[in-house]
Amino acid sequence: MSPLLPGATLGVLGGGQLGRMFVHAAQRMGYFTAVLDPEADSPAGRISHHFVQADYLDIDGLARLAGLSGAITTEFENVPAQALDNLAVARRVAPAAQAVAIAQDRIAEKAHFKRCGVVCAPYAVIGTETDLAAVSAALLPGILKTARLGYDGKGQRRVSDRAELAAAWAELGEVACVLEKLLPLAFECSVIVARGQDGQVVHFPPQRNTHRDGILAVTEAYAQNMPSAQAQRAVEAAKSIAEGLDYVGVLCVEFFVLDNGVLVVNEMAPRPHNSGHWTQDGCDVSQFELQVRTLAGLPLTPPRQHSPTVMLNLLGDLWFAPREAAQAIGAEPASQPAAADTPAEPPWEAVLALPGAHLHLYGKAEARRGRKMGHLNITGADREVVRATARHAAALLGLPLELSS
Ligand code: ADP
Ligand code: MG
Repeated sequence: MSPLLPGATLGVLGGGQLGRMFVHAAQRMGYFTAVLDPEADSPAGRISHHFVQADYLDIDGLARLAGLSGAITTEFENVPAQALDNLAVARRVAPAAQAVAIAQDRIAEKAHFKRCGVVCAPYAVIGTETDLAAVSAALLPGILKTARLGYDGKGQRRVSDRAELAAAWAELGEVACVLEKLLPLAFECSVIVARGQDGQVVHFPPQRNTHRDGILAVTEAYAQNMPSAQAQRAVEAAKSIAEGLDYVGVLCVEFFVLDNGVLVVNEMAPRPHNSGHWTQDGCDVSQFELQVRTLAGLPLTPPRQHSPTVMLNLLGDLWFAPREAAQAIGAEPASQPAAADTPAEPPWEAVLALPGAHLHLYGKAEARRGRKMGHLNITGADREVVRATARHAAALLGLPLELSS
């Protein structure tokens, strides 16, 4: 298939922040963009050349998107696979519906990991009372996760015994779930790969991730963030997972590293991922540019990390955070500490005075607790400089920050 060159229009299903950063990358390269989202106002819809307000399964809306676009991707993981199938009749669609459908269902996803020979946490599928009764004691304590529609720690419950397991399954609505054994994690990491239509695969170096309350809080990307043999194993596993899907597009694979050093695959996302946002400032090619290239059928070049980078996720909670920390290190906060329920803009001026601080905000109208509002990438000449700047920025923002030791 011949590539779609700059000047063509690239479409995306979903108008969230991932769509917005895809649109930025596409527009920078001279493409026009079209976004479909159910909401009238969305981070990507606001900045796209074309916008279609429609539900993901609205036939007319999908036809309008297809009419505008030479090729279409998705930023929204839970876009109905049927919508992608429908679009694929008329247009190039990447990733394919079948790959997205597997990533949307933890049961199918784990089966795929097993097929690829990649180790995942011991688990059982729970769909009936009989499955519940048959659960092996070896899986407890465990985490019960809904097979579908979970994200950012939603749709999961930690359970220590059978009684808690039964209660949690009832609480989750008795939908299809997986029970995973609770593993002793040394740390978490992820790998982002991009695979082209010709099967060429490129990857970013693995990043180390810290979650808070089930949501990604910090990503550290520098050579010393994990042993290199482990990093190599994670990259190989991610590539085999992409190849096994005959995947086209950007794929993120999340891993656990256990206390004994064993690498265990957790889950995958069929799109750019929050843990890859650091690539916008730490690499010469970002995950969003690779998404554009895979969709357009352009050549993929291996990304080169030019700077050690730390990414801090900026959640809506920051708009409500007390800012004593800023005073403690001698910088004046740009705004008064917010009353508990009145949002106040974080002290961007002080943060942006730090060399190597790159602010990304998603243009969301309202700050709410737990809502992803933006991220801050911090780059520098070496790991120690980057870590010191990250600590400084976190203190200014009133963010708790734990970096790897
Ligand atoms: P989500 O789809 O919400 O990201 P995950 O399956 O990635 O759900 O789980 C969220 C977080 O919960 C993980 O990043 C990890 O910190 C923790 N977690 C999940 N599964 C396990 C497990 N089997 N053992 C230990 N910790 C886990
Ligand atoms: Mg996860």
